[in-house]
Amino acid sequence: MFQKILIANRGEIALRVLRACKELGIQTVVVHSTADADAMHVRLADESVCIGPPPSRDSYLNIHQIVAACEITGADAVHPGYGFLSENAKFADILAAHNITFIGPTGDHIRIMGDKIEAKRTAKRLGIPVVPGSDGAVTEEKEARRIAAEIGYPVIIKASAGGGGRGMKVAHSEAELEIALQTARSEAGAAFGDDAVYIEKYLEKPRHIEVQVFGDGAGRGVHFGERDCSLQRRHQKVWEEAPSPALNAEERAHIGGVCAKAIADLGYSGAGTIEFLYENGEFYFIEMNTRLQVEHPVTEAITGIDLVHEQIRVASGGGLSVRQEDIKFNGHAIECRINAEDPRTFTPSPGTITHFHTPGGLGIRVDSGVYSGYKIPPYYDSLIGKLIVHGRNRVECMMRLRRALDEFVVDGIKTTLPLFRDLVGNADIANGDYDIHWLEKYLAKEE
Ligand code: ADP
Repeated sequence: MFQKILIANRGEIALRVLRACKELGIQTVVVHSTADADAMHVRLADESVCIGPPPSRDSYLNIHQIVAACEITGADAVHPGYGFLSENAKFADILAAHNITFIGPTGDHIRIMGDKIEAKRTAKRLGIPVVPGSDGAVTEEKEARRIAAEIGYPVIIKASAGGGGRGMKVAHSEAELEIALQTARSEAGAAFGDDAVYIEKYLEKPRHIEVQVFGDGAGRGVHFGERDCSLQRRHQKVWEEAPSPALNAEERAHIGGVCAKAIADLGYSGAGTIEFLYENGEFYFIEMNTRLQVEHPVTEAITGIDLVHEQIRVASGGGLSVRQEDIKFNGHAIECRINAEDPRTFTPSPGTITHFHTPGGLGIRVDSGVYSGYKIPPYYDSLIGKLIVHGRNRVECMMRLRRALDEFVVDGIKTTLPLFRDLVGNADIANGDYDIHWLEKYLAKEE
């Protein structure tokens, strides 16, 4: 087992990883920018190293500074959290070259899944159902026309190097195809320095359903069920739940089994999430994230398994603590992402939190790095905490969520709490009846 883990992140996820390390008796080192000197993860860590000025590229993305911090403190492993360097293959390779363990998959697996065309090809080869579309990059308009006619309109053009929902264009007819292809290519070139694009069938009303998987790196793979993250705004997840209100036990076991087998065959190591669009009973692979996800706590709530413990175990060579048959699903969990944003316009609302009171009681978990008197720096994302609620079934979970939202107090800044108070009283949400466009339509109506 590791002696000392360096946490290369900030905010609630740095604290989340720190908690797991403390439970496992592992020493912790955190790195931070000058803007985060007063952050909770810095206060609670055994050691901290300031690695640079506020901008992420000079601090949380500065590989050399982080490696130097490992060497100075003698850390033998790095947990990257999510975002920042968590899906940076070069970072994983550099750590390996310094004999420091990257708590995550190999650089090669990160690379494969980071290229969407390669990821889709790999998924298909491993028996994962994919969205019908081109077999690889498409450059010629003639070829694009042929493929689009074959799969049928509407189609979506996506950047191979894409991320964060950028570089995607929908074409509803052949007339729209040429311009969509050109725009997607030039946007992809400008945003990612790579103008390779591919074509897929555009699904009209899908749900976003993702499967949590784990590999031990030695040919064993398991799944921890799915999460439904269909409630999104501008491709950013807002509310996540497990299990999905749309799946039955048979579908769950089937898609889970397919994913677990794929992970085993790939020889994958650590945590991963295989994301699908789901429509009319069919799953369509869109991408795989090779890291821990923001929404992992809903899976922890219904399985009772600490996924960060599991990541650390696997990375240290200790293997998975569970077999598939040990993983049982209990009840229902919902996560609300609480952002320091105006709940109507979603513009960031940094500033000082004058009062912070979190809800408690049975089935309530709050993962947050903020506190009363904390000044939110303007340099990073606006997530200030996550409220995760668990109940024996979805109805009990919703009842508990409603009262937890009533108890939650964040003064001094604007937050998205009022949005969740509205959602929890909505009939479609109560019925679990929503797709990936539901939230944007709802917000447009409210304006
Ligand atoms: P990114 O990595 O940029 O987030 P994804 O491939 O994960 O890109 O897609 C982001 C979002 O775009 C999906 O969650 C979905 O809302 C939409 N999308 C992607 N592919 C399709 C498709 N074939 N049909 C309909 N919507 C899609």
